[in-house]
Amino acid sequence: MRNFECVDNELVIGGVKATEIVKRYGSPVYVTDENAVRNNYHRIYQAFSKRMPTRINYACKSNTNLAVLRILEQEGSCIDAVSIGEIEACLRSGFSPDRILYTGVNVSNAELKAVVSKGVPINIDSFSELERLSKITTNHTISFRVNPEVGSGHHDKVITGKRSTKFGIPKHQIIDAYKRAVELGFKPSGIHAHIGSGGQKVEPFIELIDELIKIVQELETIGIDLRFIDIGGGIGIPYRLDEVEMDLDKMAEEITSRIKSKTKVKEIIIEPGRYIIADSTILLATVVDIKETPDKMYAGIDAGFNTLIRPAMYDSYHHVAVANKFGDKAEETYSLGGPICETGDVMAKDRELPKVEEGDIIAVYDAGAYGFTMASNYNMRPLPREVLVKDGEVTLIRESETIEELFRHQRIPSRLML
Ligand SMILES: *Cc1c(COP(=O)(O)O)cnc(C)c1O
Repeated sequence: MRNFECVDNELVIGGVKATEIVKRYGSPVYVTDENAVRNNYHRIYQAFSKRMPTRINYACKSNTNLAVLRILEQEGSCIDAVSIGEIEACLRSGFSPDRILYTGVNVSNAELKAVVSKGVPINIDSFSELERLSKITTNHTISFRVNPEVGSGHHDKVITGKRSTKFGIPKHQIIDAYKRAVELGFKPSGIHAHIGSGGQKVEPFIELIDELIKIVQELETIGIDLRFIDIGGGIGIPYRLDEVEMDLDKMAEEITSRIKSKTKVKEIIIEPGRYIIADSTILLATVVDIKETPDKMYAGIDAGFNTLIRPAMYDSYHHVAVANKFGDKAEETYSLGGPICETGDVMAKDRELPKVEEGDIIAVYDAGAYGFTMASNYNMRPLPREVLVKDGEVTLIRESETIEELFRHQRIPSRLML
């Protein structure tokens, strides 16, 4: 969690007061600090690259704003993409196809063809996908996603690497997958696994690398030498005040030393999404209503789970602060309810805050990952704006939707118009 600057008792991000941003762009609005994105990228790249050749495949499902992608392109990042739409976003942001790795699940033939036509390497998730791809082409760069039977994550819904989830090729079949690929004429270039999202511990990654190394060694004995091991993403961040950052240096040392001493593999790939983008961004919302119920004080805000779904979907904790009373002491306990007509639409529960009034600005921390990308039009509410801040300057990077745009794709059959 970031320590934001306090100027005139107000929260400042990227050299700009939160209240000024809302005055100019309204709310709700996502605010991304460009320098924070760059620093996060550097930190994780350095931890690994000082030990062995490293490639960071930014998991762009966490945030696909084109400006964010441009920043990471400039930094030299590569991409983990999970759909043809994400691939298109990255190509438009200047990434060449060889800097993208496509890892889909339950991939249709239409999508396979589209990915092949873009020249983007494919990380294969099943035997079915391998056979179907071979009918399109065998002259394509591939790797395999294995289900390592090692899982980790902040919530059951996002643990991917456990036995019998829908992801990856079961580990007892993975050697056969490589053999079959070679038989079909492919030259597999690597192995991949992703244990899950938002884990805070190093140990599952060590368990994972040991599993992957066993597979790589077995492949090496049958003459299949891989270029890379991709350990996926899932590095958690401290969302709460009392949580600590994962020890990246330890993780990097444990993992790279094993790869170097036990395999011929020359490159490690890591796929962080959350780690790079989550804490770069806050969501600003305006307090529109105050309500005292028999047991709870509610401050009603103009951002609900249509804007940021993580609290409703995963019971996630996001730290919140009153941006225009940033230095004030906490006085009361509030829950922050949103405008969506469901009881579960509460952004933050039972938080100690300074006295909150209508018109105050709430900052929701760590909103950069799985924030805007999971936003929806539920309750017919337009998607919010996004802005980028850097050294005191604010730039609009996504206009908000208009009510008119919500009707763009609907058609009323003429017989219903009589
Ligand atoms: C979601 C995902 C990631 C990124 O997860 P984070 O928790 O954001 O780091 C990486 N790789 C794959 C295959 C994913 O599905």
